Amino acid sequence: PLVLGIESSCDETGVGIVRGTTLLTNTVSSSMDEHVRFGGVIPEIASRAHLDAFVPTLQESLHEAGVTLDEIDAIAVTSGPGLAGALMVGVCAAKALAVATGKPLYAINHLVAHVGVGLLDRNPDGGTAAGGAAGLGEGGRLPDNLGALLVSGGHTEILRIRSITDDVELLGSTIDDAAGEAYDKVARILELGYPGGPAIDKLARQGNAKSIRFPRGLSQPKYMGTAEEPGPHRYDWSFSGLKTAVARCVEQFEARGEEVPVADIAAAFQEAVVDVISAKAVLACKENGITDVLLGGGVAANSRLRELTGQRCTSAGIRLHVPPLELCTDNGAMVAALGAQLIMAGIGPSGVAFAPDSSMPVTTVSVQADAG
Ligand code: ATP
Ligand code: MG
Ligand code: FE
Repeated sequence: PLVLGIESSCDETGVGIVRGTTLLTNTVSSSMDEHVRFGGVIPEIASRAHLDAFVPTLQESLHEAGVTLDEIDAIAVTSGPGLAGALMVGVCAAKALAVATGKPLYAINHLVAHVGVGLLDRNPDGGTAAGGAAGLGEGGRLPDNLGALLVSGGHTEILRIRSITDDVELLGSTIDDAAGEAYDKVARILELGYPGGPAIDKLARQGNAKSIRFPRGLSQPKYMGTAEEPGPHRYDWSFSGLKTAVARCVEQFEARGEEVPVADIAAAFQEAVVDVISAKAVLACKENGITDVLLGGGVAANSRLRELTGQRCTSAGIRLHVPPLELCTDNGAMVAALGAQLIMAGIGPSGVAFAPDSSMPVTTVSVQADAG
């Protein structure tokens, strides 16, 4: 099926078009620049930016794919989780398009869509707008024991996917800040600007990660328990204590009148984040029989996260799949990719009576019309 996907859950306005598992176009407009002076995404600004960007993004996407709205078989839209006001813009646009064209509409889960992108065919040429994905679906089906590690500005989760269309389970998640959010907050403390991830990643290469040891949240025995008797947060993360520890560390250097070793702090902070993310993700995979794990979200760009997670997966006999970065960050192609999977699995559309759900659970892959 030819599916148009719409994404507006955070600061990216995305429209992507797929035919089955073939990516035709992936057009994204980001309002990131408008949030720079605030050091984080401002929901109201993001919503207005979606309103401005939606029609041009849609037109560009259709033009690039060389298809008309008439030819599209179905429309898929992110209906949660995400920023309520931002979701509303994409959902309203999708409903209007569906009603005007008479096409079926699929309201889908953003987190599961991050995994769905891995099903797109690998493009042998790679690189371009229609660059290849992880090619997880090669041979027509997903690996049986698939996990997904999603790390971005808005989420940090480890999922188990038994079926991408109707059986997704949350194994663990952050209980406070997302990892990308921690990067952004720490970058603010270190006065490195926004977004913090790329700045810290770069500066960390000049620092000594071992010079300071920052806490690995929820790693104490009382939270971890054992494989037989898991503690309350065995596969969960917490990054707010880490952010506080960085702030206190900076204050101590300042109080002593010493120069703040910004590169060392950046390196030690990054090591703490990446160590605990990869350790818990690999543990969750090992203990749940997961043999293939897909990495998604904007923090997948992080060089150290890729390196350490890759090493630990290899040691544990787990295959790590990393899609091209433009498909790891928020985009419309992943929404279209999951929409196409739902249609191919014979799952019905969502109707137009649903409302966006800013805290949609991963167990809801798509909204069922009769449940709304
Ligand atoms: P969502 O959470 O809905 O996926 P988002 O817009 O918050 O959306 P992304 O756009 O996927 O998240 O990613 C942005 C985040 O990724 C920011 O927090 C940014 O600091 C972080 N990031 C980007 N590059 C890197 C990097 N090299 N290292 C660490 N973090 C990074
Ligand atoms: Mg973003
Ligand atoms: Fe996302």
